[in-house]
Amino acid sequence: MRHVSAIVIGGGCAGLACASTLKKNGIEDVVLLEKDDEAGGILNQCIHNGFGLTTFKEQLSGPAFAERFADEARALNVEIKTGAMVVSITEDKKVSYESQKEGYVTLQADAIILAVGCYERNRGAVQIDGMRCAGVFTAGQAQRYINIEGYMVGKRVFILGSGDIGLIMARRMMLEGAEVLGVAEIMPYSNGLARNIKQCLEDFNIPLYLSHTITHIYGKDRVEGIDVCKVDEHMRPIEEEKMHFDVDTVLLSIGLIPENHLADSIQIQMDSKIKGPVVDENFMTSVPGIFAAGNGLHVHDLADYAAKQGAKAAEGCVRYLKQASQDNDYVNTNAGNEIGYVVPARLHQNQLPKIVEMYFRVRKPVKKGTIVIKCGDEVIRSIPKENLVPSEMEIIPVVTDLILEKKQDVTISMEDVVYA
Ligand SMILES: Cc1cc2nc3c(=O)[nH]c(=O)nc-3n(C[C@H](O)[C@H](O)[C@H](O)COP(=O)(O)OP(=O)(O)OC[C@H]3O[C@@H](n4cnc5c(N)ncnc54)[C@H](O)[C@@H]3O)c2cc1C
Repeated sequence: MRHVSAIVIGGGCAGLACASTLKKNGIEDVVLLEKDDEAGGILNQCIHNGFGLTTFKEQLSGPAFAERFADEARALNVEIKTGAMVVSITEDKKVSYESQKEGYVTLQADAIILAVGCYERNRGAVQIDGMRCAGVFTAGQAQRYINIEGYMVGKRVFILGSGDIGLIMARRMMLEGAEVLGVAEIMPYSNGLARNIKQCLEDFNIPLYLSHTITHIYGKDRVEGIDVCKVDEHMRPIEEEKMHFDVDTVLLSIGLIPENHLADSIQIQMDSKIKGPVVDENFMTSVPGIFAAGNGLHVHDLADYAAKQGAKAAEGCVRYLKQASQDNDYVNTNAGNEIGYVVPARLHQNQLPKIVEMYFRVRKPVKKGTIVIKCGDEVIRSIPKENLVPSEMEIIPVVTDLILEKKQDVTISMEDVVYA
């Protein structure tokens, strides 16, 4: 069996950035396995622009942004295998994949990095009465059909969920000549970025129905119409406030979940809040030598951050590969008041880099408040913030001296909150 230093699973921007960073740090034999026919990941279907402002200080389309990372990985001689679907991993770091070119192959690695992206919640995740007729797509499926396969998915469209992919697809459908009758969002606020509400809905006069949901889909073979109801504060539909729309297509943009099948298969400890693996500051999971990054760890708002995290996981992996002994003593990080989750979920208590970046999201929109990061009951950082929303990920660098000294759990919470 062939033995390599590191195998990166997933060739999206996180996996590509990870593989390149491994190479740049002197890890010679790095194999990247990507199930699709091309590297680039989900960005290959995101043909709109707006990518790369953080990383490259310019506006790129999704494919152009991904190509920058693919070009770098190729230039550094990362062995990229496309059409290679990983079907299993083991705790002793054997990776098996299937490919048309090579058949069924198993490799032994010293380290594995999971950069497998995320999947979309589909109709099964929400309860909508009606038949299982054609014409109901996740927003990402529709995006792939239109932007990659060249098929138009419908003419009169309604979108459930105001996540960014749904908003971007509302604009895309209009540009392709469809009519988008509205977007319904069950929460009293949108889950998309403010710039996408403006550019994708308001600029096209597409109504956004907050505190609304689809309660019925009509049609036997194909969608013929839907009922949309206002919901009360417990998210129960108010029957008297029902509207009917004649549509032939429903797009669902109701959330993304890290693709966690491989991690789950070997009982890597999972974090129920992010639905991805528990990782430490090196992005190492509970199985030594197996790392996770990008949307396969927790869903990111911007691709730039997913790529940056891929590179950081590579640095953690290099530390693991070059270090003989591992410290197994951790403190936990906790999501306190109004914080949805915190990544990393745990930190080494005896050896940490000088600064660790903490990723988190608020649970609901906050107009004003203070983010307070504590180790035990001592404050490490306190930062006044305005206009925080759950759709936007926060990244805060934290100096680790106090954690190393006190060796107590770290909690991030919002204090003095004024709600939006
Ligand atoms: C439909 C959709 C649209 C999006 N649109 C935008 C947008 O417009 N702007 C934005 O900033 N962000 C967008 N995002 C978020 C975007 O996915 C992330 O910001 C970023 O691209 C994630 O990069 P990644 O490398 O973590 O994941 P991905 O780009 O998803 O890459 C993961 C890769 O892993 C591969 N893979 C998975 N399992 C296996 C396996 N078993 N074997 C081999 N390969 C495997 C997949 O094929 C994929 O190529 C979108 C996400 C989705 C799902």
